[in-house]
Amino acid sequence: MPPKAKSATTSSTSATSKPPGETVARARTSSPASADGAETPIQFVKGVGPKLGALLKSRGLATVKDIFTFFPRAYEDRSKLKKVSEVLEGESATLTVKVGTVKKIPIRAFGKGGMKSILEVRASDETGGLSLKWFHAPRGMEERFIPGVELIVHGTIKMYMGRPEIVHPEISWSASSSEHNVGRVIPVYVEIEGIPTRSLRKILWEALERYSDTMTEDLPERYLTQHQLPKLSQAIREIHFPTSEAPDKIAQLVEFNTPAHWRLIYEEFFKFEYLILRQRLRMEKQTAPAYGKGDGPAAMKSLEDSLPFKLTGGQKTAIAEIIKDITQPHPMNRLIQGDVGSGKTAVAFLTAGFVLAEGAQATLMAPTEILAEQHYKNAIRLFGGRLNVALLTGKSTAREREALLARLKGGEPILLIGTHALIEEPVQFANLSYIMIDEQHRFGVEQRRTLKMKGVRETVDGQGTTKKTLPHSLILTATPIPRTLALTAYGDLAVTSITEMPPGRTPIITKLCQDNTTKGRAYETIRRELRDGHQAYFVYPLVEESEAEGFTHLKSAVAEAERLQKEVFPEFKVGLLHGQMRPDEKAKIMEAFKQKETQILVSTTVIEVGVDVPNSTVMVIEHAERFGLSQLHQLRGRVGRGAAQSYCFLMSHPRVAENSAVRLDVLEETNDGFKIAEADLEIRGPGEFLGTRQAGGLPFRLANLVRDRDWLVRARDDAQGLLQEDPELLQPEHSRLRRYYEREGKIQFERLKTS
Ligand code: ADP
Ligand code: MG
Repeated sequence: MPPKAKSATTSSTSATSKPPGETVARARTSSPASADGAETPIQFVKGVGPKLGALLKSRGLATVKDIFTFFPRAYEDRSKLKKVSEVLEGESATLTVKVGTVKKIPIRAFGKGGMKSILEVRASDETGGLSLKWFHAPRGMEERFIPGVELIVHGTIKMYMGRPEIVHPEISWSASSSEHNVGRVIPVYVEIEGIPTRSLRKILWEALERYSDTMTEDLPERYLTQHQLPKLSQAIREIHFPTSEAPDKIAQLVEFNTPAHWRLIYEEFFKFEYLILRQRLRMEKQTAPAYGKGDGPAAMKSLEDSLPFKLTGGQKTAIAEIIKDITQPHPMNRLIQGDVGSGKTAVAFLTAGFVLAEGAQATLMAPTEILAEQHYKNAIRLFGGRLNVALLTGKSTAREREALLARLKGGEPILLIGTHALIEEPVQFANLSYIMIDEQHRFGVEQRRTLKMKGVRETVDGQGTTKKTLPHSLILTATPIPRTLALTAYGDLAVTSITEMPPGRTPIITKLCQDNTTKGRAYETIRRELRDGHQAYFVYPLVEESEAEGFTHLKSAVAEAERLQKEVFPEFKVGLLHGQMRPDEKAKIMEAFKQKETQILVSTTVIEVGVDVPNSTVMVIEHAERFGLSQLHQLRGRVGRGAAQSYCFLMSHPRVAENSAVRLDVLEETNDGFKIAEADLEIRGPGEFLGTRQAGGLPFRLANLVRDRDWLVRARDDAQGLLQEDPELLQPEHSRLRRYYEREGKIQFERLKTS
């Protein structure tokens, strides 16, 4: 593209723009909290003006600060000037040359009948000649090239008839006005509609010159010293216009791996962690019933003794942590994570037994009816009548409901297991103090809050002061969460991890099948397992054949169930389960499978959540590349629940992207959900784990939970220390941080008051 007739380097300040100094002064008087020059509207930056300013603003770059954080997408090393004799075909080079002759060559534009011209400027240095060419040069452009004038040119070298040339070079008209374009590593920006990277570079240069030193430093200095990090202004300047010319500098810049980047990453993490830890502290200060003075301990012990198995070490630790929490007069907010089959439900039941024995009510909410029923049946199976449980789902009859609601209102200590039906309006508890949510990522924030509200009680004491009592809450998840996410997305929760499985389970054999030979062998194994009396799951990503989004080639569960029954396994019975079925239909199909009436269960991902049929030893996942690793791992967890050897076959098309084959390998190699979660986070980002928990995801611009995990841990430790030292940020050295929260998150900060 030819340079604009008036290139940004000819610093023309629009007549209508106010002098920047004045603006800053005004900003200061109107809002003392933001004495920060970086708050200056972008149009007042030298060379911007109202028109360009409006365009930038429409792209979210309204202020100097916005443009400071509009980071380069790449860098180019222009630190070395080349001589004409040194340049090579295809390389990107910067040279200082003198203008020689200027020619305009008219050409006939094919098919258009009009005339066009090519502008050719012949330039040279002492080692040789170089042509500069423009197709469709703007009118009058040739007049700018005065013979004898020195230029700095940059572009990709082409050899044309043995002579080097650059088509559409970038030109700096004089060495002094081009500090930001040559002689250094320079930034390359994403082009904003019509604004070339070259102009953005100029705008940034001007903005940095004028305003970078006025940016306020929010972080207390001691943290910067401690981690040897640069000041904010220096960090911002370094990211846009790096001063170092170390050979691997550009690679480090692109990878966000320089002290300047670390500084910004640390700050993002620090500010976030401080806020979320403060939130946690605030919750921890609220009131909840402290149990343990009644029959809880003895009752739990006797329930435990009656179990047909011994608890694993992980289960014991989890129970101990929960009991420690609920015997305090503050609400528990705990997340318990462990692979499918690690025995989380037993932990939930035993601790619920503790609370019930103390005279309170508890509830366990599951995302599907199948799962709620399974929990209920398990509780009956494990404890008989020794744990007072009831079930409430959409299937409960009006009569059952009414009777149950009356018992709840009457204050009977009971563990109510159910689905979303639990959060409906008529369900009222007299004394709900322990809330457990299974597979919480399946529920929305509102649903969880509504359930929690049913356990909030307000009491007025003798002095007329209202006291609020909150329930204890426990979240159960079978999707292990990488530590970095536990510290961020779940930073407001205490986390318990169960990393061991109950004994007597044989590790599952996982096989990635991409060609017909391996697929053939897989089918032999499946047939053998079925003949031996075991059962198999077949999971498909879609229910019906769909034209949408190029999914047409995907096998649908419905069509495949038919094919498997008729053509592949006519001697066995195939059941079909999918998300569009009515709950009672689903339950019937599930029951038939549990009763071994069907040997094969074809399904969409509805079985992903918690189904327990220990006789199943085969899991076949079609189009495995369509699923996330953690999801595949969860699906795999449906088998391997008994002592028998189990198998998981990941069927995938041979031509799927290289990267998904690499991903699927992880599953062949390990059964460790935490390792898989880390790999998943690396490949697919945090969205996979968060579900509806945090709409919009985590607020990090630069920081990356995988790449920067060490900085996250440092920031979190520092934030924790600060919170203990000065929770309200009242000390003078913390005042700027306090002001930051007041400015950016006033509402948040107020809400988060620790007392
Ligand atoms: P999760 O909810 O973590 O996926 P469950 O609580 O459903 O796991 O447990 C899976 C199965 O293992 C259940 O049948 C349960 O009764 C059984 N189980 C739980 N704990 C143990 C244990 N310590 N030893 C043997 N079996 C156990
Ligand atoms: Mg479970």
